Amino acid sequence: MLAGVVIVSDQTTQEPLLKEEKIMPQKIKSSPKVVPMRPRTKAASAALDPRAAKVLHQQDRDHLVHGFVPLQLQQKKGVPIFVKGQGVYLWDTEGKKYIDGLASLWNVHVGHGRKEINRAVAAQMDQLAFAPTLIGPTSVPTVQLATKLTKIAPKGLTRVLFTSGGSEANEAVIRLVRAYWKAKGQPNKTKFISLNQAYHGSSSGAAVLGGIPVFNKQMEPGLPGMIHMARPYCYRCELGKTYPSCKVDCATELERIIEREGADTIGAFITEPIQGVGGVIIPPAEWLPKIREICSKHNILMVCDEVITGFGRTGSMFASAGMGVAPDVLVSAKGVTSGYLPLGLVLFREEIFQTFLSTGDDYAFWHGYTYTGHPTVCAAGLANLDIIEREKLVQKAKEQGKYLAKKLGTLKDLPIVGDVRSQGLIGAVELVKDRATKEMFPADMRIAQKTWEKALDAGVITRVAGGNNIAICPPLIITKEQIDELITALRNAILAVMAEIDGQWKMASGK
Ligand code: PLP
Repeated sequence: MLAGVVIVSDQTTQEPLLKEEKIMPQKIKSSPKVVPMRPRTKAASAALDPRAAKVLHQQDRDHLVHGFVPLQLQQKKGVPIFVKGQGVYLWDTEGKKYIDGLASLWNVHVGHGRKEINRAVAAQMDQLAFAPTLIGPTSVPTVQLATKLTKIAPKGLTRVLFTSGGSEANEAVIRLVRAYWKAKGQPNKTKFISLNQAYHGSSSGAAVLGGIPVFNKQMEPGLPGMIHMARPYCYRCELGKTYPSCKVDCATELERIIEREGADTIGAFITEPIQGVGGVIIPPAEWLPKIREICSKHNILMVCDEVITGFGRTGSMFASAGMGVAPDVLVSAKGVTSGYLPLGLVLFREEIFQTFLSTGDDYAFWHGYTYTGHPTVCAAGLANLDIIEREKLVQKAKEQGKYLAKKLGTLKDLPIVGDVRSQGLIGAVELVKDRATKEMFPADMRIAQKTWEKALDAGVITRVAGGNNIAICPPLIITKEQIDELITALRNAILAVMAEIDGQWKMASGK
């Protein structure tokens, strides 16, 4: 066992499993010993009969397609099958316990097993299972949730269009923006500008709206008019500049693109206030306000995709509001129901609505889905927002976020940790081969993937984001002790990978 890490076996369900002692940088040799990972723990009530579990795993391999999981990984190693969730913990078919360091998929804000949401859903289904909002008749929770959202949204967003998730919501944005400019008599304003590596969803339009090369390539020839630009990624500036002497030139880049393309051809600029899937890229404070200014100056709609950052994640109800910005259109999903049921939404300005309204007596938006504004889903959303407010989870995310930032900072003594960054309860650890030059590990070494795998084996759920980053995004109810547990396990996973690659990194000079 590596000096400095004490494994404390867990018997109960809520106790921290690992106790950390500080590992001093000089103790890290070029070939650290493999760190014993967290022992498998059993939760008798959650474990399935071993034969039943085996059958399920085989059926998963034989029939279920997991869209973002490499097929070979599923076939060779398999994936966990969860059977129970409580608070920040999950249990799989074998009874192994995991700490949910990613709020499952950046979405379970209020934690697992919240009876309030379950009760609200059951009551709504008893009362009314469905109403077709798309074609007219709607339901009580649908209207109530729409009203509630406009009250908590950034200023000026008075209208809501519901979808079943974030991709559908961004699909609706493409329709909304193009329809809006046509209704305004400016039909050439069809182009969208978004960021490199942006993730706006997986449906065809949302995929090419984003800037992830593998998606764009798969979707070729894509949609016309999708332009991508440099990110506010200060650790690896894509314009080769240094903050703050750059004066946030990556925002000025938007103005250069607008001048090149012509403002009369651009409908909207869309961005995640903090890029999630692309690597948890946190912009400098001036970036989003400067983008807002440029969009207003050139008469271009500003869209914030808050699918991950919405509903308290960053320590504000919406990250854009926390950054002092009110977009023209705001997209969200995930945290609006904490993942208990699928829901997405597009909030937009009154002026956009009034433009459509004044277009003609028979004008309709002509976009929507059968499950738009589903009553049961909206009931789950109302119950979830109630918990977020009652338990002051936005404020908690801010407070616990400070602790998470401090704990992430302790990982900097590991020689392959190049950068750590976080805001509220979303953060990332960026792994590098050479801290001095920020040289990355070759892709075929799969460093971040290996770290994710080691953490998962140890019962900690994280995610590889943007190639070299391990993302962390726990439920907003996480305690300081549970943050300790998460960071200690992540440290262990990084140490275990270092042991495996046996010194194939460059020590910073003097170490
Ligand atoms: N936009 C952002 C910023 C996201 O992170 C995601 C999903 O992670 C989406 C859109 C797509 O949302 P969904 O998976 O609900 O379709």
